[in-house]
Amino acid sequence: MHNNTLTIAVPVFNEVESLEIFHQKLGEVAEQLVAQFALNVEILYVDDGSSDGSVELMNRLPSGAFSVKTVCFSRNFGKEAALVAATEHCKKGAIVFLDSDGQHPPEMLPEFVRRWKVEGNDVVYAVHNKRQDHPIKQKMVGVFYRLINSGSRFEIPANAADYKLLSPRALEAMKACKERIRFFKGLSTWIGFKQSAIEYEPKERISGTTKWNFLKLLSLSSEGVISFSTVPLRATMFLGVAIAIPASVYGFWIVLSALLMGNDVPGYSSLFTATVFLGGLQLILLGVVGEYVGHMLREIKQRPIYIVAEEHSLQAKTPEVADASGR
Ligand code: UDP
Ligand code: MG
Repeated sequence: MHNNTLTIAVPVFNEVESLEIFHQKLGEVAEQLVAQFALNVEILYVDDGSSDGSVELMNRLPSGAFSVKTVCFSRNFGKEAALVAATEHCKKGAIVFLDSDGQHPPEMLPEFVRRWKVEGNDVVYAVHNKRQDHPIKQKMVGVFYRLINSGSRFEIPANAADYKLLSPRALEAMKACKERIRFFKGLSTWIGFKQSAIEYEPKERISGTTKWNFLKLLSLSSEGVISFSTVPLRATMFLGVAIAIPASVYGFWIVLSALLMGNDVPGYSSLFTATVFLGGLQLILLGVVGEYVGHMLREIKQRPIYIVAEEHSLQAKTPEVADASGR
C-alpha cells in the first residue's frame, strides 16, 4: 500500500542560517532516492513558530525531482508537536524524520530506505555511537531509561535519536496513538513491528546552538516516564510501607519499654527530625502524584496538539513515479 512514497519530515525552529545549506544537501539525497528506489519523495518542513525568518526562507526553497511542502505553526509548540504534525500531514507512504540543523546526516537516508524496502523493516532508527555528553548527563540518561523500561513488555532503546523511518503500516500505528502528550521515542518502540538500528555519529550543528536546556530536557524526561511508566507511583507506595513498618515497630518498642522498664521517652530532637523528614517526604511524594494528575488534566482537556497558521506546497518538477500497489 503506497509503498512508493516517502515523506522526509523536518522540524524547524529558528534555523534560518542553516536551512539553505541543509535543503541543498537534503535535496541531493532526495534526488538520489528518487533515482535509486523509484520513490515519490516529498520534503515536509514543519515550522514550529520560528521568529527569525525561517518561514519566508522555507517557502522559497526549491523543489526538484521531489516536492516540497511547508506547514507553519501559529507559535512554538515544541518539537514533539512538530513530529505529530508531520505524521498527520503525511497522507500516504512511509515517513522519515530528521533535524534541520545538520546533526542528522542526510547521506544516511539511502541506508534507511534500503532497510525498509529491501530488508522489510518497519521502524529504522539511528543510535548515537559515541556520546560527547558529560558523564553526569550520561548517568542521568541511563537512570531515565532504566526507569522507563522497568517492568514493561518492550524496551525503549537508549541513545536512539529522533532520526527515524516508519514504514506505511508503522506510521498508521503511530497515528492510532491518540494521546495528546506524545513521547515520540517511546511510541515508535511501543508500536512493535520489525525494528532496526543504525549507528551514527551526530555531526556538529551547521549553525546556532541547541534549543534544549537542562530544564527542558528534565521536563521531556518526566513526560516520557509518566507516559510509559507507573513505577514512580508504585515506588511511592512501597516507600510509604517501608517507612511505616519500622516506625510502628519502633513506636511499639517505646511503649513497651516505658511500661515494662519505666523508661521515659527521651529526646525532642529525634521527634523533630522525624516529623520534618516525613513532612518533606510527603511533599515530594505528593509532587509525584501531582505530576500524574497534571498529565491527566492536559490529556482530558483535549486541546489540539498544534495549530497551523499556513501551508505551502511546491510540486515535483519531474513526473511522479506511479504508486506500485504492494504490501
Ligand atoms: N526544534 C523544534 N521545536 C523546538 C525546538 C527544536 O522544532 O521547540 C527542532 C530544531 O529546529 C531541530 C530539532 O528540533 O531541527 C532538534 O533541535 P535541537 O538541535 O535544538 O536539539 P538537539 O539536537 O540538541 O537535541
Ligand atoms: Mg540538534
